[in-house]
Amino acid sequence: MGTLQAEVPNSGYYAGLISCQVACPVHTDARGYVTAIAAGRFEEAYLIARGPNPFASICGRICGAPCEAACRRGKVPRVDDDGHFVGTDRPIAIRALKRFACESAGPESGPTEEILRAVQSYVPRVAAEADEMAALLRAGIDGSIPKGAGERIAIIGAGPAGLSAAHDLALLGFRPVVYETEPVPAGMLAVGVPAYRLPREVIAQEVAVIQALGVEVRCGVTVGEEISFGDLRRDYAAVVVAVGAKSSRGLALAGESGPGVYGGVDLLRAVALGAGMDIGREVVVVGGGNVAYDVARTVVRQIAFDTARTAARLPGAARVRLVSLEELEEMPADTLEIIEGDEEGIERWNGWGPVEIERDAGGKVTGVVFRKCLRVYDENRRFSPVFDDAQRQTLACDTVLLAVGQSPQLDFLKDDGGDVEMARPGWPKIDPATLATSAEGVFAAGDLAHGTRLLIDAVASGKAAARSVYRYLTGHELRPETVTAHLALEHYGRERGYEAIRRQPVPSCGPERRLAQPDVLVEIGYGPEQAMREASRCLDCGVTPVFDGNRCVLCGGCVDVCPTLCLKLVPLSGLVGDETLEAAIRVSLGAGADPEENSAILKDEDRCIRCALCAARCPVDAISMERVTFQTSWRRS
Ligand SMILES: Cc1cc2nc3c(=O)[nH]c(=O)nc-3n(C[C@H](O)[C@H](O)[C@H](O)COP(=O)(O)OP(=O)(O)OC[C@H]3O[C@@H](n4cnc5c(N)ncnc54)[C@H](O)[C@@H]3O)c2cc1C
Repeated sequence: MGTLQAEVPNSGYYAGLISCQVACPVHTDARGYVTAIAAGRFEEAYLIARGPNPFASICGRICGAPCEAACRRGKVPRVDDDGHFVGTDRPIAIRALKRFACESAGPESGPTEEILRAVQSYVPRVAAEADEMAALLRAGIDGSIPKGAGERIAIIGAGPAGLSAAHDLALLGFRPVVYETEPVPAGMLAVGVPAYRLPREVIAQEVAVIQALGVEVRCGVTVGEEISFGDLRRDYAAVVVAVGAKSSRGLALAGESGPGVYGGVDLLRAVALGAGMDIGREVVVVGGGNVAYDVARTVVRQIAFDTARTAARLPGAARVRLVSLEELEEMPADTLEIIEGDEEGIERWNGWGPVEIERDAGGKVTGVVFRKCLRVYDENRRFSPVFDDAQRQTLACDTVLLAVGQSPQLDFLKDDGGDVEMARPGWPKIDPATLATSAEGVFAAGDLAHGTRLLIDAVASGKAAARSVYRYLTGHELRPETVTAHLALEHYGRERGYEAIRRQPVPSCGPERRLAQPDVLVEIGYGPEQAMREASRCLDCGVTPVFDGNRCVLCGGCVDVCPTLCLKLVPLSGLVGDETLEAAIRVSLGAGADPEENSAILKDEDRCIRCALCAARCPVDAISMERVTFQTSWRRS
């Protein structure tokens, strides 16, 4: 037998197993709300989801869901009736379950003030149950933290980063004022993400709860026009710049400048604000990510809608072609976006890169020349496309939409003497630990601070900026403190058959219905029965069998009964690991014992489904089931 890599559990080990919570940038206890849904405790589920995340309802609709990518259920091997490996199971539909919890008990379900009251008075069940957690937080902030002195903080940008910073600053005792150039708050969520994915009333309801904390949002005010950056620095105790990356990046192609070629996010903004844009009927979208799909699917809807209204006046077929450098397998867009885009009639052209945009003598766009892309990434997964210039083709079109990335617009900083230094053109220099810029009292957050990422990253970054402002103004650090609680479970058992339940498809409407009106919501969402069934698939990774080596008689009963073969009885001599493992082996061997004669029980965490059969089988009570929970709160040092 060869050697096996092993690890001895240390104090943080069990909390680390709750991979959904670890993966979330704000450490939402996804396991907590999913198991609450399974038990029918929907309000509690919402309050757990909302605790660290002021954008829980919006995340329930559109979060990129790093929790789901990390979900352990998605790693459990599945075997067929003959015991053959047939792939892995699918993760819990955590995002869709969050939507269900929020619709049941969040701002979508009741008056703003009631929701805020419930959020602020909620004490997590684990805190009530475990003494170690008694001092725990409300809405992610420990209630015992001495508050700020009501200083006014200016925030530029009412996107998820700016509003999350404002939310936490209000909780920390400051008076945040948010300046927003658009007529509506919520940044890209309101003027980027299409309404068929995120209803506008959900945005309004969620932002209303943040405002009810005392956050002032001044929409329609552009910093650099109606008010200067210098004025804000003079009149406010600190400034958080959270202006996102709103400008569509160009490709500097021949023929790119001029009518008929637009930035993808500019189109989304125009549609979101009802401004409209002069798009034709032969549209080429350049890009292969989620934004390109938002653009292409929005255009398809606009064309379908216009055609239905004015069929008699619009002759000829309309076409939307989405052209990406990547082949299908490598496209950065989510698989569901690609499938739904295909269903809606978007023509996908994979493996082509644009060379130039052709125009007629009058300057009208007539087509885009593409060349074949042979490879997008190099061996180190760095973007390094290789083209075959001999393979070219021209796609005839009258409109080109570029969805190849965004960059910030920071001209307004110039009027303040250049105190904010740039790291590279267009992006400010930022201390990654504090989010401080080089200008005194000026912090950055969100896409501007870390580049374009997910909504939940912007939320985490806004909250981090709020803590830095607190330190800047009070002189005291707020440190994250992870509190872990272990609860022995006397009578733990799982429902019969939970391991066999397949992921419940999230109900959505068909392509015809979707295209009937531009804003028809694609995803219908779970009802209570489906939600509870899906939630009951959760392995509840916080629950774990804990082995007492002093009691174990190495009978192997637990190994035999384990349905997923996650336990192994192995000689100590076959184990390799770090110095903690070596020390543990030395202790268990005692002086002079033979490693071949002594054994250890190994557990493969990716296979364990927390069924507790091992604990039930153990004849000497050497295995106990324990629940581990952790919460991160912020303490003042
Ligand atoms: C089309 C699109 C779809 C997306 N879909 C998803 C998704 O499904 N899931 C997901 O997790 N993430 C998604 N994202 C990413 C997510 O929306 C962003 O990461 C997030 O919005 C960034 O937040 P932010 O607050 O940093 O910036 P933004 O949301 O861009 O907000 C910045 C705000 O600052 C304002 N502003 C800028 N300059 C000024 C000024 N001078 N004065 C006053 N105000 C100013 C802007 O108008 C804007 O409202 C998407 C992004 C785009 C573009």
